[in-house]
Amino acid sequence: MRANPPELAVRVRGLRKEYGGVAAVDGIDLDIAQGETFALLGPNGAGKSTTVEILEGYRHRSAGEVSVLGVDPAHGRLDWKARLGIVLQSTGESGQYTVREQLSHFARFYPNPRRVDDVIAAVGLEKQAKTRIGKLSGGQQRRVDVALAIVGRPELLFLDEPTTGFDPEARREFWGLIEELKSEGTTILLTTHYLDEAARLGDRGGVIVGGRLVAVGRIDQLGGAEARVPLVRWRDEAGALHEERTERPAALVVDLAQGVGGEPRELEVIRPSLEDVYLSLVHAAATASATAGTARELVVMHTEKMHTEKEGEPA
Ligand code: ADP
Repeated sequence: MRANPPELAVRVRGLRKEYGGVAAVDGIDLDIAQGETFALLGPNGAGKSTTVEILEGYRHRSAGEVSVLGVDPAHGRLDWKARLGIVLQSTGESGQYTVREQLSHFARFYPNPRRVDDVIAAVGLEKQAKTRIGKLSGGQQRRVDVALAIVGRPELLFLDEPTTGFDPEARREFWGLIEELKSEGTTILLTTHYLDEAARLGDRGGVIVGGRLVAVGRIDQLGGAEARVPLVRWRDEAGALHEERTERPAALVVDLAQGVGGEPRELEVIRPSLEDVYLSLVHAAATASATAGTARELVVMHTEKMHTEKEGEPA
């Protein structure tokens, strides 16, 4: 059953998931091309895990269309599952087997596995191949998780907060590993709280807030051009702080310098980082939904008031 054009690894339309009548995912549309790394961002409780677990076939959706590698995950069989690699947030790996034993065991489940020693080398665990997994450091255990997820040569790899708890060096090494997988053509869906990780690894990304995708696009264009206009900040002679957004910061700085006849105090030109863009998107979405919530409450209060007044009317 191949419903997709072949270049799309993931196609989602109008995805909804309700828990007890409350929407955790509230109408998401999403395309991920084959070979693309897509970073899904959003605050806790935004609906990322729910979305990803529906794509992985672990949760049922309430409504919408979903196609992953051309298959509806709600009906994904074992041969479809074998085409996915999944790195969950917490490792459930048993510690009593060595790295090589565990990988060899898992490799047998797949029709076309990678060579176990190649995978061990790819994740940089050659020296630990004969070590029991329980004796490895947290970062090394995470590498085992990735090794287990890629041993089956997945077409689509799900990475759920893969570097949480890593030290900076381990993160950089891990990114190198992911970049290699990217260069081999693996499609990757990454969820992360680290914006630098999203910026480094992601080709495109999306921000989910309150179950809705509030922005989607190339990572370096998320939020639109407006969100990326540089900010010039300086202090005037009286000590007051000024800020101005401008597409032409150099011209503004020249004007300022001429105005004060020298160097403006505490001058800064700030280009919004992905983190700035992300935070303003999340803030704007949260404010909009709070306003919508207030508007809804007002409508409900108004309707209730009308009913009360009607009931109070003489017949
Ligand atoms: P994220 O991964 O972005 O942190 P989740 O997808 O885990 O968000 O959760 C989205 C919302 O759905 C949250 O409000 C969460 O409390 C709720 N939720 C998640 N799983 C369940 C569940 N099994 N039952 C009820 N509510 C859930």
